[in-house]
Order: sequence, then structure tokens, then C-alpha cells
Amino acid sequence: MAGNGESYTIGVDIGGTKIAVGVVSADGELVDSKRKSTPVRDPDAVLEVIVELVSAFDGHDVEAVGIGVAGLVDATRSRVIFAPNLGWVEEPLRMQVERAVGLPTVIENDANAAAWGEFRFGAGRRRGENDLVMVTVGTGIGGGIILGGVLQRGANGVGAEFGHLRLVPDGRLCGCGRHGCWEQYASGNALVRTARGLASERRLEAGIMLGYGDGTPEGVQGPHITEAAQRGDQVAIEAFEVAGAWLARGMVEVATLLDPAAFVIGGGVVEAGDLLLAPAKREYAAQLVARAQRPMTAIIPAELGNLAGIVGAADLARDHGPSPTGAGTTSEAEAVERDAAVAAASGSAAKVARAVESSTATAKAQSATRSEGVARNTPDS
Ligand SMILES: [Zn+2]
Repeated sequence: MAGNGESYTIGVDIGGTKIAVGVVSADGELVDSKRKSTPVRDPDAVLEVIVELVSAFDGHDVEAVGIGVAGLVDATRSRVIFAPNLGWVEEPLRMQVERAVGLPTVIENDANAAAWGEFRFGAGRRRGENDLVMVTVGTGIGGGIILGGVLQRGANGVGAEFGHLRLVPDGRLCGCGRHGCWEQYASGNALVRTARGLASERRLEAGIMLGYGDGTPEGVQGPHITEAAQRGDQVAIEAFEVAGAWLARGMVEVATLLDPAAFVIGGGVVEAGDLLLAPAKREYAAQLVARAQRPMTAIIPAELGNLAGIVGAADLARDHGPSPTGAGTTSEAEAVERDAAVAAASGSAAKVARAVESSTATAKAQSATRSEGVARNTPDS
């Protein structure tokens, strides 16, 4: 436990272009942060950057490390099963980081970590819901599921791969090898594809949007669509309406199965706000099964931006379980956390949070400066 009574953990967000690392307090405040470029397809170099950045926070009294990875992570939160963009296959990342930095470490899928961050400290905290689904609309579509206040990982740790729900039989070919996946219709990439298609048919109407690029439909990029739509370009607005409607159709399928109280929509595309969310809400209300007999699900924007992954991973590290390397041996704080882990096994992560927080309730007056710098502008996710 920290000398001043405050409890800190480190969150790591490994994106395709940036590795962002932050020190986070028990109430979700980012108090210090650093980032570096992600080494391309060099697993050893990625590990070196993680260790370098985590070690740079030696001045803070840190209890544990949580790492969010864009890839499949096993159910024990120890091993990266497959992270194609990082070149990892069956990588024992937890053990490697623990050995290198001497702190208990957990690994989590990055979308799960972001969902947990929004649930605990972002859009979910504001609403106080225990059942929410986060849908991250980036280059693809990712997500996380929290039911009864517990992050749902599935039996093998690889659930909640929303982007590959099949919405269109024999539809567009997806990178996963199947056809008709949700992310082929409602992701940032799908938005660009739709906007280019519409612009090639209606060049005159798309003048504002085309003007942001090289004047051709192929030159249209994601930010052009948002800026053009905000300036009234009808083709850009229509592209958002198409993407929003597809976003809603996928959410309807998820709601049919899980009945969440809220969908939290994150990812870069959400910066377009109601350009995307208004048509999504309209289509969702029109398509939801038994709409007249059930409350409307809240569809709300995420609040933490790219910090959700760091804050979520750091918070998940508070329940780090037994350490395979013995890193971070017993302390009062860990005894509390072990009790909290037992509480988690009995079904309530909210109990975990309360147990951990009660051990660190003092010294909340310590000023924790929220640093806005890190990762806020990174385009990954
Ligand atoms: Zn797919």
C-alpha cells in the first residue's frame, strides 16, 4: 500500500500505433501517464516498451499492473492467445511482465478493459447501471459485456467479439473469413466505404466532403465525413444515417439476447455525436423486439475517450488473483484484495470495488490531477 494511504495501480493500453501507460487511483483518476509508439510486429520489442514505461513510474507506490491488449486473452488473464497486429501467438505476457517489473499483473482484452473503465468511472457510473454493453466503433467493432456488475469473458476468455456477429447472410466479406459481419456495415471503415460509394453516385451533392480530400470519392477519409456532415453535406449526413442504422441493427440482436439497460457507444466515430447516434436510436426503436412492452434501452456516448482502456485495465488489476511468479507478496492491501477476489467469485464485482476502496478510503483529499495528455488523441481502437 502506498505510504500516503492512496492506492494506485498502473493501466497499460497496447494499441496498434501507441502504447499508453498511466498511474490510476482507486477512484479512477489518472495521475500520471506516458506513451510511446508501438514497435511493429516485434513481440520482444513491445514487451521492452511496456517494461520501460511501467518502470518509469517508480516514484509512485504502485500495487499492480493491468494490460489491455487488442487480441484474444485467455480466461485466467495470463496469456495472449492471439494478437495478429502485435505478432503474438500464445504469449505468456503476464509472467513476462511480472518478472520484469516485480508487480502482480493481469492481461485483459482491450475492449473489455475499456468497457470496464466506462462501467466503473465513465458513462456507466453516471447511470448506476449494473447491466450494460459497450460497443466500440473504430476501424472495426469491438465491445464488452457487463452483467450484474461482472465483466463477462466467456469460458475461454474470448467472448464479446461483437464485430463478427453476422447481420447479413452472404454479405460483405470480412477479415475474419466470414461474410456479413456487423463491422463490415457499421464500423469507421464501413462508414468510409458507404460515404465513398454515395459520393461516386452523387458527386455534386458531395462537394463539401470531396473538398476535404483530393476531390475523388477514393480520397474521402473518416474525419472528412464528420466535418462535411457538420457543415451540412447531405451525402456525408446520409453516410452517417446508413452507418447508424446498421449500428442499431446489431444492437437489437445483442439486446434480444442480453437485455442490457444501456449501450455505451465508444470509439473514434462517436466524436460525430448525434450524426451517428440519432439515426441509431431511431432504427433501434423501430427494430427492437417487443418494443411496446419493454423500456427503451439507453444508447449513450462513452465519456472517457481513449483513456477508458487505461483506467479500466488499471482497475481490473486491483483484483489480480494469485500471482504465478509470486510478484508483489503479501501486504494489508493484498489481503483485502484477496477477500475482494473471493467476493468476486461469489458474483459481484461491485463488492470487489467497495472492498478495495474501503481499504483506501483515507487520503482521498490527496490531489489527483487528471492528466488529459495521454492517448486522448491516439487514433487506435
Ligand atoms: Zn468478421
